[in-house]
Amino acid sequence: MEVLFLGVGEACDSHHGNTSALITTRNCKILLDCGFSVPHRFFARCEDPDCLEYVWISHFHGDHFFGLPLLLLRFWEMGRNRPLQFVGRQELREKTMSALELAYPGFAEKLSFPLLFHTIQAQDSLQLEHLKFQGIRTDHSQPNSGLLLDDGNHRLYYSGDGRPTPGVIELAHGCDLALHEAFTWEDSIPNHGSVTGCLQLMEKAEIKQLALVHIERKTRKNRQQDFEKLLKQHPDVLLPTEGETVCLE
Ligand SMILES: [Zn+2]
Ligand SMILES: [Zn+2]
Repeated sequence: MEVLFLGVGEACDSHHGNTSALITTRNCKILLDCGFSVPHRFFARCEDPDCLEYVWISHFHGDHFFGLPLLLLRFWEMGRNRPLQFVGRQELREKTMSALELAYPGFAEKLSFPLLFHTIQAQDSLQLEHLKFQGIRTDHSQPNSGLLLDDGNHRLYYSGDGRPTPGVIELAHGCDLALHEAFTWEDSIPNHGSVTGCLQLMEKAEIKQLALVHIERKTRKNRQQDFEKLLKQHPDVLLPTEGETVCLE
């Protein structure tokens, strides 16, 4: 399993983009979230219109799904034929189609490829080909599903937004890599994760590697020295940047 970070920032971060990652496993690609800035970064690295199989949407905040209209427009322009499969919470179809209609009225009828929607409730799981998608509720201001993605060889946890709930500790237990939002350094903002909270989760859930993402831009700037210290102390903690990849072998 390979993880390519397309963005690692929060909603308003113009330097690091919206948090999103492209997962490759057995020639299958899964995009985790698709915020405002994600399509440009995705297509800068993708020239094959049929290269993406799945899109996971954690929740319906713009920095996690408002990139979908552009993703679909560009695939159409490139001549995509293959169905594109979406996995996420209930309302996934409705929200996606509303966003598409607002962005490009009437465009949905012109789409040259089918859109397939798979919805899962928190705690549910879904097997699609060799991939198991399992959702879990987190503490966020909008209903958000954390995702445990299991390809049969590796287990990856992606938080979307929100503080981990006790269920997250259970679900992510022993996973190979967690991509977790760490908006602030300490738990100071309700409904968001933090660096210290992520480290506690890593310990409790015995997570092997932790990538800190969705960091508030002031925290990233003001805590630069603390981040440097943290990375030295914890070699299994990563502070990825856009374009970086992590390979799980
Ligand atoms: Zn959010
Ligand atoms: Zn967000």
